[in-house]
Amino acid sequence: MNAKKDIRKFSLEEMITEFEQLQEPKFRARQVYEWLWKKSARSFDEMTSLSKELRIKMQERFLLQAVQEHIVQKSKDGTVKLGMSLHDKRLIEGVMIPDDDRNTACVSSQVGCSLSCSFCATGFLKRDRNLDWGEIYDQVILLNKYALEYTNKPLTNIVYMGMGEPLLNYDNVMKSIRIITSPEGLNMAQKRITVSTSGIAKGITRLTDEGMKFNLALSLHAATDEKRDKIMEINHSNNLETVMNALTYFHQKTGNKVTFEYILFDKFNDTMEDADNLVKLYNKVPSFINLIEYNNVEGVTLKKAKSEKRNEFVAYLRNRGVNVAVRRSRGKDIDAACGQLANKNETAA
Ligand code: SAH
Ligand code: SF4
Repeated sequence: MNAKKDIRKFSLEEMITEFEQLQEPKFRARQVYEWLWKKSARSFDEMTSLSKELRIKMQERFLLQAVQEHIVQKSKDGTVKLGMSLHDKRLIEGVMIPDDDRNTACVSSQVGCSLSCSFCATGFLKRDRNLDWGEIYDQVILLNKYALEYTNKPLTNIVYMGMGEPLLNYDNVMKSIRIITSPEGLNMAQKRITVSTSGIAKGITRLTDEGMKFNLALSLHAATDEKRDKIMEINHSNNLETVMNALTYFHQKTGNKVTFEYILFDKFNDTMEDADNLVKLYNKVPSFINLIEYNNVEGVTLKKAKSEKRNEFVAYLRNRGVNVAVRRSRGKDIDAACGQLANKNETAA
């Protein structure tokens, strides 16, 4: 028995070879490739420029496992959360965040996450599986559709800040970025993409060597090993020195500044001493700091910092010349904010 092959796993060259075996010309393979990626076909039947006969042949030989929309929720502030189902009935989530001049898609890279950061709702789910690059790309396409529908504008930015740790699904994340930025896909500029990592030093070094130009954000959240160890397990194997060295290498080779994401937690990392430690790291590598408002998560002892504390913290950083932005949370009413993307691993009916 010949198992059906997943047609979305083929590169264009592989597609051409497959079509040669079907005694079909090269240009057909190109057409199918375009249907799959440029036109995001979700079934063979949609490929109307192909003969019915060929579509049946393809159906017999290949699988087309596109991500399907499951639930759409729209927040008061315009944020759209999209629940999507995968071919194996697993569910993932992605978010579209409209702003004055931009539409940002926040996409997932894994079902669940293996890293269990103590403050993150996704971390409470065990890592179930990596997403395939086509599944990451599909989220972008579906979120783009909502951007167009609700704002009349396409996506302008993509952040890998949904469920999962992108650098632990390295190959698929890189392939998804390649198709998003290629003319066969969305043709988006690499600088419009940001990958957020909890700090996988080897992954940072590896992506630096790829010579790509997307942005990198580090989920720092604590500026000493002692504190970071308490909330992020990954710090035990990838301590701050190792990660900072990798970030320095990234900056030296790409010329890009790094973004540090720092959630302010009440009485954990919101003192002036914490701010001072943060300034020290900031000064080690050309960077920006995003101070993130914590979305309290049920069952987590850490809570969002008081607003007076936040203001003092920001003032302290600004007085020292730090380039810092305060990020308010979006889509709170629909649990679409960072760290609230946890679909409890339910399966689609
Ligand atoms: N695994 C990657 C990317 C996904 S998390 C990473 O950790 O960077 C995206 C961002 O949301 C990270 O900075 C993460 O630390 C932050 N985050 C997680 N839970 C949050 C919460 N409850 N409130 C605010 N931000 C949260
Ligand atoms: Fe995983 Fe990132 Fe959440 Fe940590 S913060 S558990 S790495 S998704």
